[in-house]
Amino acid sequence: MATSLDRKAWLKQAHAMDFDVHIIGGGLAGSEAAWQLARRGFKVRLSEMRGSGGSTDAHQTDGLAELVCSNSFRSDDDEKNAVGLLHHEMRRLDSLIMRAGEVARVPAGSAMAVDRDVFSAEVQKALENHPNVTVVRERVDELPASGMTIVATGPLTAPSLAQSIVKVTGEDRLAFFDAIAPIVHRESINMDVCWMAARWDKGTSEGGGKDYINCPMTKEQYLAFHQGLLDAEKGEFKEWEANTPYFEGCMPIEVMAERGVETLRFGPMKPVGLDNPHWATPEHPNGRWAYAVVQLRQDNKLGTLWNMVGFQTKMKYAEQVRLFRTIPGLENAEFARLGGMHRNTFINSPVLLDRQLRLKGAEHIRFAGQVTGCEGYVESSAIGLMAGMMAATELAGREWTSPPRTSAFGALLAHVTGDAEAETYQPMNINFGLFPPLHDVNKKSRKEAYTARGKADFGEWLAGLEALPA
Ligand SMILES: Cc1cc2nc3c(=O)[nH]c(=O)nc-3n(C[C@H](O)[C@H](O)[C@H](O)COP(=O)(O)OP(=O)(O)OC[C@H]3O[C@@H](n4cnc5c(N)ncnc54)[C@H](O)[C@@H]3O)c2cc1C
Repeated sequence: MATSLDRKAWLKQAHAMDFDVHIIGGGLAGSEAAWQLARRGFKVRLSEMRGSGGSTDAHQTDGLAELVCSNSFRSDDDEKNAVGLLHHEMRRLDSLIMRAGEVARVPAGSAMAVDRDVFSAEVQKALENHPNVTVVRERVDELPASGMTIVATGPLTAPSLAQSIVKVTGEDRLAFFDAIAPIVHRESINMDVCWMAARWDKGTSEGGGKDYINCPMTKEQYLAFHQGLLDAEKGEFKEWEANTPYFEGCMPIEVMAERGVETLRFGPMKPVGLDNPHWATPEHPNGRWAYAVVQLRQDNKLGTLWNMVGFQTKMKYAEQVRLFRTIPGLENAEFARLGGMHRNTFINSPVLLDRQLRLKGAEHIRFAGQVTGCEGYVESSAIGLMAGMMAATELAGREWTSPPRTSAFGALLAHVTGDAEAETYQPMNINFGLFPPLHDVNKKSRKEAYTARGKADFGEWLAGLEALPA
């Protein structure tokens, strides 16, 4: 694998190939990245395997930017909603996905939903008609050894290319299945019931190694919770997902519950070594062990998001909320993400990528879209947009300035490129838990405060950007 190339040699090489950037994958991220480069005058080769005989298990057409499931870009409310704020910022950067979305828009209340065929046709028309874009229907099987490249092959990356990625990044840095445990906003956890501690006090964090938030359960509560897991409605694996094995360590919590009433108490809900100070007595001044414990571990550097350790699940979302709120201390839990398990190819971006989405040690390659471990149509497109802008900035010989951490782009990008915990890295939607917290604002008006701060800071960043070639 070639490592960083001298920039001039690299550009020369790319021009000899008649394009400046090779984008692999004509989905949402790849299409958006191509647009951002093309409109700034850079030539793009966009390789898409659909249309050349290849496909994925989820795509149905050969159209660029096909929406594989729902037709919704979720909330378009840019005053109270994090994904709505991301829409707003994408529009300000002339996003092709947002532009085509407007043309294809269908009524959906405060959400943005689209006619999927019109949407895909609009994206394809814009790119095929652009003089700087060449759409090539081909499957790419190897990471290119040189030339500026953006890999945007999505959650269902062709296995041949996935193998090539593994060769460069290592086996344990590319996942083929996500195993998502729910993530809770820290401020919604009741610390009058929960407490911070590591098992046997063997923690590593500052302040005495109190690494985990622990939720205690009595025997009665545990048995009711166990029964709740058995009874809860579960989602089905899609036919093509059913044979993708999950590792023993990523087993859904409800499958563990089915193995026996004690299995969880000897697994993720093990209570030993965890003195609950809320249950202290004169004979037990340090507190007592609970019958079972649910542990939450810090999930981002800001400390705003905490994941429920070992709680990956296929339960339906409404069931998760209902059942997990029966856990002592989580009665009012607000979830930044609910659990899930899907076929999903993604790299461990926080360790593999630099802040500009470049693969460390092979900086001619950027990753974009869901393969970076963001989640969702809008987030994938947004990371594609950023990758396109970053590549354009580099080709123009300019310094890249990251969008502010307080903006939706900045929050998502920071999470993917280093702020998320690498060890527990799993796909993530945009949400306010990724933003620097605003503790001094009344809870009721906090969402408005996040969006107002984000818009103001993003506007300043945009105004300060040195204009790239148009
Ligand atoms: C089954 C399923 C359902 C989903 N449903 C939703 C949903 O309802 N809402 C939501 O917000 N998100 C959903 N997602 C998540 C995600 O947002 C979408 O998958 C989104 O399309 C990701 O965008 P992307 O550009 O990263 O990847 P994609 O849109 O998948 O684009 C990747 C492209 O790369 C091509 N490709 C792959 N390998 C190669 C190769 N080697 N050479 C050339 N081309 C290649 C593929 O054909 C594809 O066109 C879903 C994901 C899956 C798998």
